[in-house]
Amino acid sequence: MGKIEGQKPRVVLVPFPYQGHITPMLQLGSILNSRGFSITVAHTEFNSPNPLDHPEFVFLPLPDNLSGCETSYISSLKGISAMNVNSKERFHEYMVEMLEKQPQNGLVSCIVYDNLMHFVNEVATHLKLPTVVLRPNSAAYLRSLQFIIQLQADNLIPLPEHQLQDAIPTHHLLRFKDLPFPVTAEIPKILIEFFTSYANIRSSSAIILNTADILDHESLTKLQQHFKVPIFPVGPLQKMAPKFNTSLITEDTSSITWLDKQAPNSVLYISIGSIAIMDKKELIEMAWGLANSDQPFLWVVRPSSVSGSEWIECLPEGFEEITRERGCIVKWAPQKKVLAHPAVGGFWSHSGWNSTLESMCEGVPMICRPYFSDQVVNTRYLTHVWKVALELNSLERKGIEQAIRALMGDKEGKEMRQKALKMKQELELSIQRGGSSWNSFENLVEFIASFTQ
Ligand code: UDP
Repeated sequence: MGKIEGQKPRVVLVPFPYQGHITPMLQLGSILNSRGFSITVAHTEFNSPNPLDHPEFVFLPLPDNLSGCETSYISSLKGISAMNVNSKERFHEYMVEMLEKQPQNGLVSCIVYDNLMHFVNEVATHLKLPTVVLRPNSAAYLRSLQFIIQLQADNLIPLPEHQLQDAIPTHHLLRFKDLPFPVTAEIPKILIEFFTSYANIRSSSAIILNTADILDHESLTKLQQHFKVPIFPVGPLQKMAPKFNTSLITEDTSSITWLDKQAPNSVLYISIGSIAIMDKKELIEMAWGLANSDQPFLWVVRPSSVSGSEWIECLPEGFEEITRERGCIVKWAPQKKVLAHPAVGGFWSHSGWNSTLESMCEGVPMICRPYFSDQVVNTRYLTHVWKVALELNSLERKGIEQAIRALMGDKEGKEMRQKALKMKQELELSIQRGGSSWNSFENLVEFIASFTQ
């Protein structure tokens, strides 16, 4: 079909509806848009992005039939599967309509989708449309999933406890302990199937990773040997994309006003991202650790992130009084702005991939408290490969207080801050003309444009 002069080629994006997945997809879309592509976002009704934040995109809602379901169900394997089943038909109809309107509305170049939305592959194959997978995690995480699948295939799970500290032979930066799922107990078949599906790129023509060569070089090299399609490490996308709101939750901007009144590098920022949940005991120990550390803090406690509590009603008595002068608690913060604020000197994080990149982009050293999945892998890299973080070894108040003092005050913390600032500079270079991520993005643009030439 011929191209109409002046019509931009169109890229259709299908994000998985979690904050950590939607953000990089929208960032990718906005960079592609600035490089001459029209962007359509097909999204579930659950956690749908706000079209007003992206007037340049076309939004197509997919009926996921999940309204009324608990978020915990939606995030379960059953929920993800239901989302895939329920969205497929409407997505197929949208794509057929879009193809019928070609070339007047621009040719569809390809569909970029999150690997968890695998229904896209079936629709695209049926319509003979090329697809590209966007993975919102690190290359090391993808390799670690492949490793679990291999261990299972070799009948090595459950692994004896004493092997946990051993380095993984084919991935020596990680120990068995750092795999994203514990391998010392049987792993249910359904989970192995899920890992296999998530690690599989199906018939995609390429893989986009929100990572940079300087962070993930070894894993990228190994992945490129494994997958026969091009891999484009184009991160950190948040540094490349124009600034716009991607938050699904309203940000409390009073946190910035509060930070404006604090001394440079004095504040510990705390957030466990959009999904992780802690128990009441952990919240209480955190509170006492913070109180005893004497350190100013900005603490994001997401509603329902403490099991059995709506918000912060189970904070210990006396905590508020002790920390009133130096603490600020909010439900959700403008995290990227917070990390860029001169008052912030450290980040206590669950080590989600977006948070990891956002912190490194601002040269902020971290305390890692991983909960599950890629957070465990990221923690190992942050603490032992990039050396910009320390891992919280104890969830007791004393251990927490010591970790905070080490990060914010000690020689150890100062060294990590130096390394983090160096990493910030290197990441900045990687996205500038001639840098590895910049080059990779150029190649990606050429690759996607080739579908409609
Ligand atoms: N975030 C935010 N405000 C908060 C806490 C988190 O905007 O108060 C954003 C953060 O900037 C990041 C995302 O939520 O982009 C969390 O993604 P990540 O991959 O770190 O963790 P996940 O939520 O997927 O576990």
